[in-house]
Amino acid sequence: MKPLLIVMSAPSGAGKSTLCDLLLQEFPEITYSVSCTTRAPRGQEEDGIDYFFLSKEEFDRRVREGLLLEHATVHGNLYGTPADPVREAFAEGQSVLMDIDVAGAAQVREAVAKLPPGDPLREGFVDIFVEPPDMEELRRRLEGRGEDAPETIELRLRNAQGEMDRAGEFTYRVVNDDLDMAYRRLRDILLVKSGVL
Ligand code: 5GP
Repeated sequence: MKPLLIVMSAPSGAGKSTLCDLLLQEFPEITYSVSCTTRAPRGQEEDGIDYFFLSKEEFDRRVREGLLLEHATVHGNLYGTPADPVREAFAEGQSVLMDIDVAGAAQVREAVAKLPPGDPLREGFVDIFVEPPDMEELRRRLEGRGEDAPETIELRLRNAQGEMDRAGEFTYRVVNDDLDMAYRRLRDILLVKSGVL
């Protein structure tokens, strides 16, 4: 399998995390890129596994020192991808899965496009936007998971429309109407791209 740099974006509640989990379970050769964030941990989230939970000062320091591959403000908090683990995984022939927002995805897309043709990161780059079937279903899912305060849910729904408006920037789009079918579509995209299918 040719190593892939998989960038997945979606409005929160579209089911992207579930799809990412399914990929990671099926393909041990894919490394999940653990992001840094200044938001507080939710539910069962663990530092170093779900995110590196940082203070604003520490996050800013990492940006200044060029330690992040991309970074963006999402729903009022800072998020960014540590560069070293991505490079290390690729050097070992592993694929990398990044679950990042549309602004971060655009930064990675631009950076990769500047690499010379033939560079493994450029050759392996694949960007996928996961869409909810519609906004009502998105609201039901966000309310149903019971993790966020009502005002947070409203903020996420407002931001969702802005993210959906940028779906056209992505090479691939997967509508998550039915989880099994969405997963199969996602899997096929990656298998074709990695030269397996
Ligand atoms: P959540 O707070 O629900 O875990 O994530 C909120 C949003 O931040 C999601 O759309 C997620 O994809 C995005 N996000 C998570 N990590 C990163 C990152 O490292 N960079 C960017 N740009 N967005 C991220």
